[in-house]
Amino acid sequence: MLALQGDVREHLAAFDQAGAEAFPVRTAEEILSVHALALPGGESSTLSRLIRVFGLEAPLRHRLAGGMPTFSTCAGTILLSREILDGTADQLALGALDLRTRRNGYGRQVDSFECDLDLPLLGSGTFRAVFIRAPVIEGCGPGVEVLAAHEGRPVAVRQGRHLSFTFHPEMTGDLRLHRLFLDGVGELLESGAPLPAEGSAA
Ligand code: GLN
Repeated sequence: MLALQGDVREHLAAFDQAGAEAFPVRTAEEILSVHALALPGGESSTLSRLIRVFGLEAPLRHRLAGGMPTFSTCAGTILLSREILDGTADQLALGALDLRTRRNGYGRQVDSFECDLDLPLLGSGTFRAVFIRAPVIEGCGPGVEVLAAHEGRPVAVRQGRHLSFTFHPEMTGDLRLHRLFLDGVGELLESGAPLPAEGSAA
C-alpha cells in the first residue's frame, strides 16, 4: 500500500480483512520488492510531489514497466493515467493505464455522492460506490476493459494486471473488489510465471 498520503489505513484494513499481508510502502526498496501495489485515494497532486521528493518515480516506473499488478482508487487512478486533465503543471502521469482522466471532473459543487453500480464481473447484486471529489475518465484506450460505468462514464476499469476505480471500495466494508485483485495476484504467484520485474531501478 503506497503510504505517502491519503486513505491508506482504510485500504490496509480492507486488505487485511480480505486475508492479505498488506503493509505501508514508503521507500524505493519496498517498491522494488512488493508483489503488487495499491495506490490510495487522497490528493493526486500531493502524491505526485511526494513521490518525487522521496525518489520513488524511477522505481515505480520500473516496476510498472515490469508488469507489477496495481489496485488504485481515485487519486491513485489519476496517478496511473496516461493523460491528466486539470492537473497541476508538472503532475505525474505514470501512464500504466491508457486513460484520459479529468481531476475533480464531477465539479466542486458535487464534492461527494454515492450510488449502486452494476458490476457484472462480481456476479449478481450491485456495488455501493462512494465518490469523493472523484475524477472523470473521459477516454479509454483499446486495451482498457470497462467493468462498471456511471452515467455513461467508466468508473471501474481493468487493463492487464491493473484494477482501477474512481470511487472508494475501501469505505463500505464490501471486500469483493479487494478480493478480486488478491485472487489475481495469488494466481500470478502460483502460476510460477516470472515475478513482475524486481530489482534495481537504475
Ligand atoms: N480530487 C482528488 C485529486 O485530484 C482525488 C480525490 C480522492 O482521491 N478522493 O487527486
